[in-house]
Order: sequence, then C-alpha cells, then structure tokens
Amino acid sequence: YLLGKKRATDVAHMVWRHVVQKGDTVVDATCGNGYDTLEMLKLVADDSHKGFVYALDIQKDALDMTSSLLDDSLNPTEKQLIKLFNICHSKMEEVIPSHASVRLIAFNLGYLPGGDKEIITRSETTLLALEAAKRILMPGGLISLVVYVGHPGGWEELESIEAFAAGLSSENWICCKLQMLNRPSSPIPIFLFKR
Ligand code: SAM
Repeated sequence: YLLGKKRATDVAHMVWRHVVQKGDTVVDATCGNGYDTLEMLKLVADDSHKGFVYALDIQKDALDMTSSLLDDSLNPTEKQLIKLFNICHSKMEEVIPSHASVRLIAFNLGYLPGGDKEIITRSETTLLALEAAKRILMPGGLISLVVYVGHPGGWEELESIEAFAAGLSSENWICCKLQMLNRPSSPIPIFLFKR
C-alpha cells in the first residue's frame, strides 16, 4: 500500500511491480548506486533467464558502485542479465537494440548519493532522454521518475518534466504525479507516465 512507504523510491518500486513481468526488458536510466537496478532485476529475472536490465549512468564511479552491489547481491548467472553502460541517458537508443520491447524506463534524478555532487542530471539531457524513452517504450509500458530538487537547476528540471508530460497525448498516455504536500522544500515527486 503506497502510503505505508516513507521513501519515494519504495513507492516507485511498488508501482513497477504492477507493470513489470518476468522476462521483460527494462531500463534504469540513472543507475547510481545500483539499488533501482537490483530491484528491476528481481522483477524481470525468471527461470529461463530471459529478463534483461539496461543500466546507464554518466559517471564511471556510479557504474562501479552498481557493479559491486550486484556482485554482492546476485549470482553470476543473474548478473549476466544486467548490462551496464557509461553513457548519457539521452543516448539510450545507441545501446538499447531497436527490436527490444521495453516495459519500464526509470529515472532517479539528481546527484549520486555519497558521490560527486557536481555531477547532476540536467533539464536539457533529461528531456532528450524522455523523448528517447517515449520512442522505445512498448505499449502498456511505464516511464517512472523520482525527482529530487535539491541540486542546482532541480526545480527547473521538475518544471520541464511537467511540461513534457502535459504535451503527451491523453489518448495514448496516462500521466500522474505523486507528491508529499507536507514537505514543500523537498517534495520528491514521483512521475508515472503509462503508455
Ligand atoms: N538510481 C540510483 C540508485 O538506486 O542508487 C540513484 C541515482 S542518483 C539520484 C542520480 C544519478 O544520475 C547519478 O549517479 C548521476 O551520475 C546520474 N546522471 C546524471 N546525469 C546523467 C545523465 N545525463 N545520464 C545518465 N546518468 C546521469
């Protein structure tokens, strides 16, 4: 139940569980320390090892953190179901094959917790990544964003995501926002765009 969750990422994960199926292909567009990637793997991995997670980050340090979390948490066969890419998410189409049916593309915006706070997501590339996500998401799929606003440009990034969502056709997309109204300086909204 959503309101029993304190952390925005737990709320997002709960929604993912209703959309993602075993054997699916999914994308973590900001893998950071790897917690979302690990959660995605648990959702897609099945006995025939068909599920697949593409995990992207612009920072090599983040990929190292993700890789070490996965080493600690998964067996080698499970780890093979995850492919890590040191790339800007606006270029996701360069690494995700055009034939892939992608059910979930998740963003967790801001900076790497415990890492370099200068390396942050930015409106311009976030919007390009959302356009790419829109092109590759399968019908019935979900774009999920957990948005932190504490970094420079964070509020502007939030506004640009709302404008992007407002521009999606209401015939083809259901766009929702969940937000803590009693935390005005740090609302951590969750955006869910279902195709
Ligand atoms: N999902 C992560 C987890 O579970 O630990 C946390 C992600 S953290 C809030 C945001 C991440 O976005 C950082 O690791 C940062 O390096 C990454 N990032 C920033 N700009 C990016 C870009 N243009 N493309 C891909 N990743 C980016």
